[in-house]
Amino acid sequence: AKEEGKNNFQFFMPTMNKQAHHRLLLENKLRNAIEKNHFQLFYQPQLDLKTGDVVGTEALIRWFDPEQGMISPAEFIPLAEDTGLIGQIGDWVIDAACRDMKALQAKGFPQVKVAINVSAFQFRHGKHLTEVIRQSLEEHDYPAKLFALELTESILIDDVNETLNILNSMRDLGITLAIDDFGTGYSSLSYLKQFPIDILKIDQSFIRDITTDASDKAIVSAIIAMAQQLDIDVLAEGVETLEHQAFLQSQGCDYVQGYLYCRPIPADELFDHWQKKQLT
Ligand code: C2E
Ligand code: CA
Ligand code: CA
Ligand code: CA
Repeated sequence: AKEEGKNNFQFFMPTMNKQAHHRLLLENKLRNAIEKNHFQLFYQPQLDLKTGDVVGTEALIRWFDPEQGMISPAEFIPLAEDTGLIGQIGDWVIDAACRDMKALQAKGFPQVKVAINVSAFQFRHGKHLTEVIRQSLEEHDYPAKLFALELTESILIDDVNETLNILNSMRDLGITLAIDDFGTGYSSLSYLKQFPIDILKIDQSFIRDITTDASDKAIVSAIIAMAQQLDIDVLAEGVETLEHQAFLQSQGCDYVQGYLYCRPIPADELFDHWQKKQLT
């Protein structure tokens, strides 16, 4: 029996080991990247669909590893969440977004909002999060009215009263609150009535087939109509084609974001685009 156990051990360990090993390597690399500050924020414009004006930019983190090159947030944000490292990364994002936007606007770039993504871990430490935002705004002398948070539905539902407290303290700072990936969570819509939400971002999975898929069409129309009734603005993400744009226009969508207009790019490239009048 002892022999068998030993064989099992030898049979199962290699694959388990490999996964755990990969994770550990990535975690160590991530800690090192935090220490050496191997991150950069890219920015993707958000446009007013009626005027075509840029009204905001979403900050999207990029990790540049000296050996591996760019590592996508889809790959490391989940690990950062699990390990709590997202706390430090998230604090850096807030500071960097304020600093970058302040610098851009000092050079003449329009006074548009910057939106940052917030993870569940950060929201659970809502007091800290709110305090870091307050401090970064103050330190960079960056106006609260030009700062927005993108929160997913799933991070809001845990405890309604606690969520409301955190959202209200953020709202008291004067910042904008958006719900990201709207429609993909399983939460009830009633929270929209209770929570101080300014913007719904319709998830790109609903936009992709909007011109061909009848149910996606119906869902997007319904979200826009509901938001109008609740006096909440709607932003469609993942807008890639003129057909997407035309449908959203016909439904009265307020804002758009997607590859049709611009990919996420570094702040200095965003500035160049704007200077060359490729952005209005
Ligand atoms: P998200 O917040 O839903 O961001 C939208 C993602 O869609 C971005 O991917 C963006 O580059 C991509 N995208 C933009 N326009 C289009 C389009 O027209 N078509 C398609 N197919 N995709 C488009 P990205 O930059 O790889 O970020 C992935 C996710 O990683 C984000 O999803 C967000 O959940 C997370 N993330 C990114 N930066 C941060 C951050 O600073 N903090 C946290 N907590 N999460 C972040
Ligand atoms: Ca987002
Ligand atoms: Ca999204
Ligand atoms: Ca997302």
